[in-house]
Amino acid sequence: MDVELTPVPAVSPPFAWRRGLRGSHPARTTAILRITTDDGAVGEAYHEWSGPMLADIVDRILREELVGERADRREWLWHRLWELDRTEEFPIWLFGVIDVALWDLEGRLLGVPVHRLLGTYRDTIPAYASTVTFSTVEEYLDVADQCVALGYPAIKLHAWGDARADADLCQRLRAHVGPEMDLMYDGSAAFDLHDAIYLGRALAEAGYLWYEEPMREFSVTAYKWLGEKVDVPLLVAETSDGGHLNTADFIASGCATGVRTSANHRGGITGAMRIAHLADSFLLRAEVHGPTEPAVHLCMAIPNCTYYESLVTSNPVVREARVGADGLVRAPTAPGIAMPDFVYERSARNGN
Ligand SMILES: [Mg+2]
Repeated sequence: MDVELTPVPAVSPPFAWRRGLRGSHPARTTAILRITTDDGAVGEAYHEWSGPMLADIVDRILREELVGERADRREWLWHRLWELDRTEEFPIWLFGVIDVALWDLEGRLLGVPVHRLLGTYRDTIPAYASTVTFSTVEEYLDVADQCVALGYPAIKLHAWGDARADADLCQRLRAHVGPEMDLMYDGSAAFDLHDAIYLGRALAEAGYLWYEEPMREFSVTAYKWLGEKVDVPLLVAETSDGGHLNTADFIASGCATGVRTSANHRGGITGAMRIAHLADSFLLRAEVHGPTEPAVHLCMAIPNCTYYESLVTSNPVVREARVGADGLVRAPTAPGIAMPDFVYERSARNGN
């Protein structure tokens, strides 16, 4: 097989993300990675971060590794990437780009969507509205009303990263929507242990479904101490290095009520399913991160996840195209992963 990259220019809609963090991404070059077998079978993956960084790794290392290999040995190639990672220390998204393209290829060859290759568990899943950062409590409450009117059954906040202000927002949102609605909070690693405990106690009082990534995920011990001091369920291990191995340590520490899994941060479809099964073995949930096409397939295949994450980037709120008016995302039927049309459209505008 061979591998090639097509650069795709990308511009995000403008939005804010926590005080002190970059929000929407500036204009950048993303990429389509395309794997072709000697028989002409094709698999693709969309890489939305750094096309030039991916091109460097493919040109220096991966093309040589992939040429002559069999595309159906996904598990072998996944382990080979971990071998190469030891000294190169790949970005955590790299496994996902290669592995998703290989799963896409297999799905296209067999004429079935990837969730069917994984053993489909469900045909629909509810989507939660996952907010970007808005300016005031009043604006968040207005956005929440719009999300409910658009059919979203649950809301997750990305707020300012200020423990007291965020605690106040979370409690006022609970009072605003009433006791029944599922609410979640995502700290995007804003806090130290002291502030994470303060906010976690407020979330427990307000009956939040989960408390996600309040601190950087380098210290499993800090999360263990947090888990001993707050009663809200912790959802952990979204962006930490080491994939399933790191997730296993979070679980062993006893702090995790649920874990994060995804193709883009946890090792592709292969790594994400490994984490889902690992969590399931301890009766823990493995909630799928991010609004991507691979995430939809994972949501359909993983029994122990409850929601699809749908990003709400604007006010007025626009419901993501993957989500229906009933708040549900439906199982894809096209073969493979099936990249969104906008990727091909951007690529075509660029003359590729
Ligand atoms: Mg998150």
